[in-house]
Amino acid sequence: MAYNLLIINIAMTTKFQDNPIYPIGTAARMLGVSVQTLRLYESEGLIIISKSEGNQRIYSDSDIERLRCIRKAINEEKISIGGMKRIHGMIPCWDIIKCSSDEQNICPAYKNHLGGCWTYKHEHSVCAELDCRVCEVYKLSSNCERIKEQITKISNLHSEQLKEHSPVRDEVATGAVS
Ligand code: SF4
Repeated sequence: MAYNLLIINIAMTTKFQDNPIYPIGTAARMLGVSVQTLRLYESEGLIIISKSEGNQRIYSDSDIERLRCIRKAINEEKISIGGMKRIHGMIPCWDIIKCSSDEQNICPAYKNHLGGCWTYKHEHSVCAELDCRVCEVYKLSSNCERIKEQITKISNLHSEQLKEHSPVRDEVATGAVS
């Protein structure tokens, strides 16, 4: 019973954190950045922002946390926006979502690693029906503390596969993407 209550509590908390509540100006002030910077992160595919019925960008607490992670990576770990996109592109979403091999064969995110899987157009696959903002893959890429750990793990697990598809692994291994 207590376990069920805990699960319900976590689900409600997560839902609450995903509620879009902050206009872009407020989000920018909270993060100490310009509105243009937030728009740049969005246009580069680092984050997916909700829009109101009037087409205004609205940020949730989860978005703010994701942006804090992005800012930390850029400012403290000296990872460029391009580097962040490549890191996102290395997440093996097909393992997490469990796509079929048929779906993998037609999936642009499986074949390319230049950005998170959510930045590609998906048709005729399970991802076409899913909401990236609440997807485990997208959420995983918001976890700032685990981002380097993820790179190492992914690099080890998929070294041969990534070598075949992209030079990114070698860049990470040599510290070009750090
Ligand atoms: S639903 Fe979106 S974030 Fe999740 S694996 Fe598919 S494209 Fe990536």
